Amino acid sequence: MGPNRVDVVMDAMRVTFLGTGTSQGVPRIGCGCPVCVSLDPRDRRTRCSLYVQSPEMSWVVDTGADFRTQCLREGVLKVDAALYTHAHTDHVLGFDDLRPFCHIDRPLPLYGSAATLGQLAQMFAFAFDPVIRVPGYVHPLPKVVEGEFALGDIRVEPLPLPHGRTTSTGYLFRRRGVPLLAYLTDCKTVPAEVAEAVVGVRHLVLDALRKKPHPTHLSIGEALEVVERVGAGTSWLTHLCHDHLHEELEAELPSGVRVAYDGLRLEI
Ligand SMILES: [Zn+2]
Ligand SMILES: [Zn+2]
Ligand SMILES: [Zn+2]
Repeated sequence: MGPNRVDVVMDAMRVTFLGTGTSQGVPRIGCGCPVCVSLDPRDRRTRCSLYVQSPEMSWVVDTGADFRTQCLREGVLKVDAALYTHAHTDHVLGFDDLRPFCHIDRPLPLYGSAATLGQLAQMFAFAFDPVIRVPGYVHPLPKVVEGEFALGDIRVEPLPLPHGRTTSTGYLFRRRGVPLLAYLTDCKTVPAEVAEAVVGVRHLVLDALRKKPHPTHLSIGEALEVVERVGAGTSWLTHLCHDHLHEELEAELPSGVRVAYDGLRLEI
């Protein structure tokens, strides 16, 4: 029995952080800084991705370059859909490893903004173009998100987030009206209407690259301001670079704010 097998008595949602690192991952190739050589497994961060299981359906948010090794590491056996935040390479380069989840050419729903899905179709034309695609490749079923949609029992609300020249899509997951999880990665700000939409969510996951400001990502200080506005049960920082040791950073954070790490699992 795989570790991610859905149990009969499963809670509303099980969330596994497949990756929590910034675009180059941590350790960064060739870097000898204290974080990159740390022996703490929580300082080894692969590219950002989330795996969500509900009793009815399982899905991933983003498929970065580490997607295959993440699936093997966490025993991911079932993916019924992929949701994309945006088409930056660190979030999409593992696209081709969705192949095992299109077994016998099953079309796989891919959710994202029109812009994101358009970029994916350009990058992976061999799969998206029905003239070239052959059975065995990923079989995309593009689903442009324009408003709320359902994944089994879970209602999903897409939330646009400014991310430099790009708009990334955050996702709020609700079950029976209860906001369970908001996943807001790759953003420079969280606009007021998005913060309002996720107020009181049980778990808030936020981009928090590093302490030093960055032109397209929330810094840790900026993320903590969002935490204040949202008032989630627990807030989790993700998309971290190699500036801070997990243990040291977590010790500095206010109560209710944690640092996510690869393999972290939440039962919600
Ligand atoms: Zn990213
Ligand atoms: Zn480093
Ligand atoms: Zn990005």
